[in-house]
Amino acid sequence: MATKRADRRRLTVALTFDHDSISDGVRRGDSPVKMSHAEFGVRVGAPRILELLAAHGIVSTWFVPGHTLVTFPESTAAILAGGHEIGCHGWFHEDAAQLAAGEERAMVERCATAVAGATGERPRGWRAPYWSLGRGSLEIIEAAGFAYDSSLMADDYRLYRVRHGDRHSVKKGSRFGPESSLVEAPVSWALDDWPHFEPSASGGS
Ligand SMILES: [Zn+2]
Repeated sequence: MATKRADRRRLTVALTFDHDSISDGVRRGDSPVKMSHAEFGVRVGAPRILELLAAHGIVSTWFVPGHTLVTFPESTAAILAGGHEIGCHGWFHEDAAQLAAGEERAMVERCATAVAGATGERPRGWRAPYWSLGRGSLEIIEAAGFAYDSSLMADDYRLYRVRHGDRHSVKKGSRFGPESSLVEAPVSWALDDWPHFEPSASGGS
């Protein structure tokens, strides 16, 4: 018997995976143990996740640092074979707030070019490593041709437009800039497995 339209409930969930692997460990010069911990992702975590997604017929988005993309081509091929989207996630998982604008522009372009080389088309999505952005990062990402960012936290499940040029001052207060064409797919620390499951050597979590 057909279900009445109002009874058919539909829940849409976006599953996204940040495939950091050893990219930030290489940048920091991490110890062998920390590097092995990060290598677990590409050896064990990613294949299991891909298997699970395939078993359920689910497509997802993988934000892959350029270093992971080119260092582990079998992993990149497995993601693509599963029909998943690949977005950018820095090269060595850089903290954009620590980069000069020229360095950041070059890093963003290097990432986009590498993804285009692997997938055949420019990536549409950017997720900032550490969910950390510099003041000009979103302009750089939009200028590089990205359609969406996934690093901001001003909403939960609704997409919204990124504003450029917000100005905040303790003297003059806050003035918000105009919306751009860059779409935001918002994130939340509470929905990320990292803070729940990863110990922090520096304390705090
Ligand atoms: Zn990451």
